[in-house]
Amino acid sequence: MAANPESDPYAPLRHAMVETQLRARGIRDERVLAAMERVPRHLFAPSYNYDAAYEDHPVLIAQNQTISQPFMVAAMVQAAEIKPADVVLEVGTGSGYQAAVLAELAAEVFTIERFAALAESAQRNLAHLNYANVVVTIGDGSEGLPQYAPYDAIVVAAAAPRIPQALVEQLREDGRLVIPVGNSEEQQLHLVQKRDGMPFVQPLFGCKFVPLIGRYGFHPAT
Ligand code: SAH
Repeated sequence: MAANPESDPYAPLRHAMVETQLRARGIRDERVLAAMERVPRHLFAPSYNYDAAYEDHPVLIAQNQTISQPFMVAAMVQAAEIKPADVVLEVGTGSGYQAAVLAELAAEVFTIERFAALAESAQRNLAHLNYANVVVTIGDGSEGLPQYAPYDAIVVAAAAPRIPQALVEQLREDGRLVIPVGNSEEQQLHLVQKRDGMPFVQPLFGCKFVPLIGRYGFHPAT
């Protein structure tokens, strides 16, 4: 699916990223580690910044947004416990990187981005790497994406002031929602599991994401 690691000059940097930033820090899910070893993260970064793609921090992309830090992507995807038959929603497509990681693990990935320009370049990145099981859409993901619901897992890559009810509604029974919740300065990553129709909420650890802007997120500055 993704580029052949053997012909990829960035494969050694990516391997080091997986070992030192992910495995050494407690990411244990071998499927997640293997997916992040496969996806050529640099191809989702601006071309002047390829090397930075494998460093231990977020990478700036267009519209003042970022590709999340590798550890954060791994922690979110691991918490979402993606299985091969799962249908997954990602809110906040950004570069398309995390959508590619999800596409390595799930049957089908729907991703939604509020900036059309980002959605279009993510779509190009994903098509170039032959990810045929990702659908990129443009819109307000704080409302979820009801037309393809229910989802086995929902991963939100932007911080919300509270857990949007619409996202809980679009989860399948036993589904997992991973979402940073807090104010614009700091948040806690939360895992929400739907059991008997009710959300079971567990805070995981502190984090800092760009804001989720939308109806059930933060409101844009006026
Ligand atoms: N997952 C991305 C990182 C995304 S950063 C990657 O791997 O590159 C968060 C993204 O969420 C930004 O692109 C931002 O524009 C988007 N976003 C913020 N609010 C949103 C909303 N309500 N709906 C959809 N996307 C949103």
